[in-house]
Amino acid sequence: MNATGTSKSETGVLVVGAGPVGLTMACELLRRGIDCRVIEKSDAPSQTSKALGIQSRTLEVFENMGVIEEFLARGLKVTGADVQEGETLLFQPDTRYLKAPYPYILSLPQSDTELLLLGLLHELGGEVEWSRELAGFGQERDRIVAFVGGDRADATEEISAKWLVGCDGAHSRVRHTLGVSFEGSAYEEEFLLADVDLDWNRSRDKAHAWLHGDGIFLSLPLPGDRRWRLVSDIAPTEGEEAPQASVELFQELMAERAKDTKTNISNPTWMSNFKISRRMITEYRRGHVFLMGDAAHIHSPVGGQGMNTGIQDAYNLGWKLALVIKGKAPDELLDTYEEERLPVAREVLKSTNASTNLAVSRNPVLRFVRDRTLSHVMGSGFVQETLLKKVSQLDVSYRKSSLSKSYKSPRMLLPGRRQDGFGLKDWLNLRGGPKAGDRAPQGRCLRYPSREETTLFQEFEGTSFTLLLFDGPARTEEGYANLTGIAQKVEELWGEDVKTCVVIAGYDKPEGLDWDGPVLLDVERELHETYNTAGAEVLYLIRPDGYVGFRSQPAMGDRLLRYLGDLLSTTPEAGESGERYAKGYADKTSTTR
Ligand SMILES: Cc1cc2nc3c(=O)[nH]c(=O)nc-3n(C[C@H](O)[C@H](O)[C@H](O)COP(=O)(O)OP(=O)(O)OC[C@H]3O[C@@H](n4cnc5c(N)ncnc54)[C@H](O)[C@@H]3O)c2cc1C
Repeated sequence: MNATGTSKSETGVLVVGAGPVGLTMACELLRRGIDCRVIEKSDAPSQTSKALGIQSRTLEVFENMGVIEEFLARGLKVTGADVQEGETLLFQPDTRYLKAPYPYILSLPQSDTELLLLGLLHELGGEVEWSRELAGFGQERDRIVAFVGGDRADATEEISAKWLVGCDGAHSRVRHTLGVSFEGSAYEEEFLLADVDLDWNRSRDKAHAWLHGDGIFLSLPLPGDRRWRLVSDIAPTEGEEAPQASVELFQELMAERAKDTKTNISNPTWMSNFKISRRMITEYRRGHVFLMGDAAHIHSPVGGQGMNTGIQDAYNLGWKLALVIKGKAPDELLDTYEEERLPVAREVLKSTNASTNLAVSRNPVLRFVRDRTLSHVMGSGFVQETLLKKVSQLDVSYRKSSLSKSYKSPRMLLPGRRQDGFGLKDWLNLRGGPKAGDRAPQGRCLRYPSREETTLFQEFEGTSFTLLLFDGPARTEEGYANLTGIAQKVEELWGEDVKTCVVIAGYDKPEGLDWDGPVLLDVERELHETYNTAGAEVLYLIRPDGYVGFRSQPAMGDRLLRYLGDLLSTTPEAGESGERYAKGYADKTSTTR
């Protein structure tokens, strides 16, 4: 402590805000052994239920973080909705169209989500410093000096940090201090919500919504007997304040919009009026400061995207920042955070705006068309799957990122150059399967030699990259020698950061495979089909956040080593980077995004 009473301390990373996004960020760093502190201006964990819907992709993130069982034990699985106009059923979205390990939305109050993440933080040795408000910060060379409890002269503490992550919500002090603009506009409607008991017998694995000329009436099931969240909107009336949310008002809205005069609403535990805006920043990183979650983007809660998008911001930055701090990756890797996450937020703002306008529209023509066409459109399985993939955030992809690269051999197009056994048919087939930047899909297989059942997501658990080397249906000696060479080289150079798994289309490890590391037996060929392997062996490098970073078809060791060398700042020794291990031929190829 100095003469003015300000104590001084240091940390590696300072996370500002202990909402769901700040907690995820801190857990992602601590999981990787990175020192970080979390400061929060409230004096205790939040009690409000705000975000209820945990989307399928976020559940996969929680699986990877090792907390999925706790979430599933507390939450309620919601598999669809009945959307009505009065008593007429208009359409029924059904999450079972999702081909994913968690084909539902998990309903759980945000306060519970935060408590579970806080539990994980404690397990990892972290803690939240409550009642500690960031007042501002300055930059000194390559460090941040954060003022806590008061600005500069009045600060009770100055924290010197190498990195600062602003997870401090919609009114972010970090964003204001940086002077980053938060562009957008507000909606006119005022929304009302109430968490209540309902004595109706409607199914609790669905949401129930009524579209009405005056606005919506929405009920979402909450965990616990008879618990529901009610939401309605009120059109603005010139010169008049919107009425405050109350049991009586919701009872009236239910009678008017849902034509339900029998159901009794009781036991309100939270009621609120709120207005919504759509705004986002255009700069996710400035020097050693990052913004994420509501500090970076806010929008309508329709579709339950906000918290989910923020958690995935943190999941995207966590592994990158850890690698850079450990000196294992260049600083430029951090620029891909904005490159990948800003377009996702832009798309979320666009789609939530469209669905909000559609849901609360008071334009009779638009409503007529909406109500008449939606039932037909939503009757299509394809439309349902496409929409649900979007809402569940399973379709988030980083294909355009500079981190997403792939290689496809052009050799078979040259007459007489088909030594790699990779034919034109195979080449054409490779249009399927996940592309570089896509989420790596799930699949079941067996571990060798125990033959215990496992899944790819179980194999991805932990904090490293996963290299999947598929032998493909050709199963040649030359192919196994190639895979052995790649696996051994990657193990030698990046064994600590890349877990290599050879995936065999069969029930036994082939003799030609001289690899003592993980071998997965794809007995049913489910993985080979999902990853669309063709004639020759192929490889996929899965990033720590579960997206395909690089794929090579056929599996070319030199291409992979170059990719990893760029990403992990380690260049393989000269002379070894240009060969395909079994045959040692150098291919004149191009790496494409
Ligand atoms: C009614 C409602 C329903 C919603 N429903 C959903 C849904 O179903 N699904 C969904 O995904 N999203 C939903 N959302 C949005 C979701 O609640 C937010 O997107 C989410 O809370 C954002 O998390 P965050 O951690 O970025 O910010 P916040 O949750 O706002 O957390 C920020 C934290 O930072 C702290 N803080 C602020 N300033 C400082 C400072 N200067 N110093 C220290 N600490 C500070 C705050 O006290 C707070 O704890 C809903 C929102 C509302 C209001």
